Amino acid sequence: MNPSVREQMDVLRELVVVDEEIRKLDQELGKEREALETVKNDLSRVRATIERQRTQFETLENDRGARIQEARVLGQQLERSRDKLNRARNEKETNAVQREIEETRKLLRDVEDAVGKRMIELDDLKKHILEGEEQEAGFSLRIGEREGAVSARLQEIETQRGERAGVRATIAKRLPGNTLRKYDQIRGKRQTGAARLEAGRCKACNMHLPPQLATRIVRGEILDQCPSCNRLLYVDPTTPSVPPQV
Ligand SMILES: [Zn+2]
Repeated sequence: MNPSVREQMDVLRELVVVDEEIRKLDQELGKEREALETVKNDLSRVRATIERQRTQFETLENDRGARIQEARVLGQQLERSRDKLNRARNEKETNAVQREIEETRKLLRDVEDAVGKRMIELDDLKKHILEGEEQEAGFSLRIGEREGAVSARLQEIETQRGERAGVRATIAKRLPGNTLRKYDQIRGKRQTGAARLEAGRCKACNMHLPPQLATRIVRGEILDQCPSCNRLLYVDPTTPSVPPQV
């Protein structure tokens, strides 16, 4: 035999409470996972930056090596020019070699400047890499802690959720199949499947019900839906369900 309208309303009232508990547990779970995801993303961003800076460091260091080699060659060239200067036989030759020496010196200065600049860039980059590594270590630590906390919380929530789901199944069994289906359908769309009728209003959407409809619901004559939000309406015996009589 189907339960009476009044009994179904009592079940709906309990169902709304337990479904809200389950919804909050799911929400909390989602938040925990999201927070973990955020830290993980931060970590991979830092790692990518460090990786990029290391590649850049290598490139700069190779360039510096090449410049040092270049400076060595220019130095040898300078030595040779100086020898040539000693062997110069006339003023014309001396002038030519001196010009050569000047040019080589200028090239050498440029190369030495470049080496110095690379040194500064390398130092700077090194500092950034070290900073990044420090940040990386911090993130790794936080992820470890976070993962521990999240998995503990996850277990806790899942236990609670399992327990609540059991309670829900027991409550739901007391409803006729078509009422439960309707309730779940509305809940899927609107987060809650039923609402309290209080002082002639649907407590979920605040809509004033036509007085006749409200009265029939309050009397337990019919189980009906809010004309505005479609939620199933129940009355709570501890709160007034129709507007006070004036
Ligand atoms: Zn409503």
